[in-house]
Amino acid sequence: MADKPTLMAARPMPASGNGLSAEEIEIVFRRLSERMPGRTPTAKGPKDQPNPFRSLVSCLLSAQSRDVNTAAATTALFALATTPEAMLDLPEDAIAAAIKPCGLYNVKAKNIRRLCRFLIDDLGGVVPRTREGLMRLPGIGRKCADIVLSFTFGEDVIAVDTHVDRVSNRIGLTVASTADETARQLEDRAPRWARCDGHFWLIQFGKSVCVARRPKCETCFVNDHCRYFAATG
Ligand code: SF4
Repeated sequence: MADKPTLMAARPMPASGNGLSAEEIEIVFRRLSERMPGRTPTAKGPKDQPNPFRSLVSCLLSAQSRDVNTAAATTALFALATTPEAMLDLPEDAIAAAIKPCGLYNVKAKNIRRLCRFLIDDLGGVVPRTREGLMRLPGIGRKCADIVLSFTFGEDVIAVDTHVDRVSNRIGLTVASTADETARQLEDRAPRWARCDGHFWLIQFGKSVCVARRPKCETCFVNDHCRYFAATG
């Protein structure tokens, strides 16, 4: 007898290896849009930042850190300096001490200084507004670039964090082996109308229904279009 889909790996692949059809993806996003909160003031994530430089630094700090610790580290650091120039004036150990709550603080302090140096020397201190430009910055990958584009510049981009990645690949919205590949596939497959709020719907869905351990498959409102449930339910 097949295992019940109660405990599953972080990235279970659909049994068929195929994702959902365009029609099914449309249905799934439609249902998510009806049940999950979108880009509203209450749905904003902790990384939401109106200041692009602060948003970038917060992203750097968020690696392997809980949101609450990232927020504490960002607040402490920006109490000391708020611009790339001012941050470069800080000794590296002062940066490390300020960001200690988020872990890996020595490496992250070095990366922050590299980021500031690049911003000043190559970009006149201005944070780029394109994914390509953002990904040229030291330490900034696709996830951080998309978070800045979405949260700070308000672009219709589905940034892929751990929840979005897990949910997308369980359902079959994507069939990807890395988060970056999930992001690329969502960009191709998600309907245009779903790209503004898609990140928020998927995150909330991943936190409330399709949770990492013991997802609520039996009562899930998309289980009739879920590749994982079809394979195991
Ligand atoms: S049925 Fe729903 S909760 Fe279960 S794996 Fe699929 S999307 Fe997640």
